[in-house]
Amino acid sequence: MDNVVTVRGPFAASPTVRHCDLGAHRLRDDEPWWQVTDFSRGWADGKGVACAAHLAETEAAFSAGQTYKVGGLFDAERTRWPQGPHLWMDDEDVPVRLAIFLTDPSPREIAAVETGKARFGWTEQGINGFLLFKYGDSPWNDAPFNPQRLHTPFALQPMSRGTHTRMLTFLVHADTGRIAAMRMFSWPAYFLNHVIASARRLQDVPYDEAAANLAQQDFYDRYPDGPSLYRLVRALPPEATCTGGQRDDRPH
Ligand SMILES: [Zn+2]
Repeated sequence: MDNVVTVRGPFAASPTVRHCDLGAHRLRDDEPWWQVTDFSRGWADGKGVACAAHLAETEAAFSAGQTYKVGGLFDAERTRWPQGPHLWMDDEDVPVRLAIFLTDPSPREIAAVETGKARFGWTEQGINGFLLFKYGDSPWNDAPFNPQRLHTPFALQPMSRGTHTRMLTFLVHADTGRIAAMRMFSWPAYFLNHVIASARRLQDVPYDEAAANLAQQDFYDRYPDGPSLYRLVRALPPEATCTGGQRDDRPH
């Protein structure tokens, strides 16, 4: 799971960003730069700086789907997506990916994903699970998840306590399929393990599509908006919530 690279930029030359970490050289005074997130390189928080040439070199070394870039396609084969959030927990490179598809994300929504404090919750409601999430000053939102809708069996394994997993959040233009914003977070093991235990239970429940859809609609009747989802989050047990990038593996 360490071979996914995210790229943001280009950014204008800055007096505080003086080195290309990928190529280990000084940037020219007017040289634009990109921020690269790559946990395999041992950088603080996984973040480093790239010049155009070294970014291109790195991207060429990765196959499609391993490099996510703001402005690039979220999925090389799709340029349109239904509006709303979608949660994947089946990827080999990053175990958890959340994409929020919007036709016209505002600068405020982009900033919330890129820099806002991220909070997460998990709730199991009958035969469905829901990831609850909030970025910065955006309202609480949710992404439904049912392991029985996956093409392959749910395969995430619990993690040792004290460790973290990585999850990627994307804001994607629903009408072009291009990434508007993205961010990599960690989840503490207790939270991931809570989600995995729930998904395994859901996998064993007798399933039919119509019943799952009805149950999902029932959830939206009860929790139609941010404030109602917030009331739900407040009623969750401590192990069912976490903050993105939370350092200690301990429910609060
Ligand atoms: Zn360079």
